[in-house]
Amino acid sequence: MTDEFILETHGLTKQFAGFYAVRDVNLQVRKGTIHALIGPNGAGKTTCFNLLTKFLQPSEGQILYKGKDISAMAPADVARLGLVRSFQISAVFPHLTALENVRVALQRQHGASFDFWRSKSVLNKYNQRAAELLEDVGLSEFANTPAVEMAYGRKRALEIATTLALDPEMMLLDEPMAGMGHEDIDKIAALIKRISAKYTILMVEHNLSVVSTLSDKITVLTRGKILAEGNYADLTKDERVKEAYLGA
Ligand code: ADP
Repeated sequence: MTDEFILETHGLTKQFAGFYAVRDVNLQVRKGTIHALIGPNGAGKTTCFNLLTKFLQPSEGQILYKGKDISAMAPADVARLGLVRSFQISAVFPHLTALENVRVALQRQHGASFDFWRSKSVLNKYNQRAAELLEDVGLSEFANTPAVEMAYGRKRALEIATTLALDPEMMLLDEPMAGMGHEDIDKIAALIKRISAKYTILMVEHNLSVVSTLSDKITVLTRGKILAEGNYADLTKDERVKEAYLGA
């Protein structure tokens, strides 16, 4: 392990009843970068994500986060170390406002009991931090809007704000652009770029134009294995990638 890699896997493998969903994956994510994981359906991207956040236990191999072996850790402990995941299916509470959603996430993170509602100064502190996080994702003007009334793209931005409330150093984004129109895609792409100044990002994303403009490095998975890695320009020249993924 060198300091430059915040996350590394060695021989990461997951078998389901003898079938290798992920096989011998050696991933290296450099601190402070946007790293994309791409590949056709069934390539093993989701399984990889679930292994990294410990929602699944690896069959074999090691996962190192900031040099620490997290292979046998529970998901909550991994999140506490600063490696957090934003869920593909939006996890916001629909009837709470944007500010309340972020405040609840903050409260959970800090293990505060619901008693904090009784203390004005503590409540103010959480409200202030929640407002800062909403500003980070460009949602200040929607602070008092119930999540259910927010447009889809804004809900995704809110979801990212609730993830930021967990005080991460590294974020795993599972298809952050899924189901979005052009305008929302541009907004979320700009948001990811903005937050990447503070956080390392590993994302699974199908939208290749987003991947090409945002990513510092791309790892292509096929059939559970790494097929190729590099920047977008390198990969578009790689015949194996064209054949397996880009279909050109
Ligand atoms: P991707 O996210 O790239 O589409 P997945 O990680 O979801 O790929 O799946 C990789 C392979 O592993 C697929 O063939 C899938 O059917 C299989 N797989 C994923 N999860 C399970 C599971 N819980 N049990 C059995 N097979 C699984």
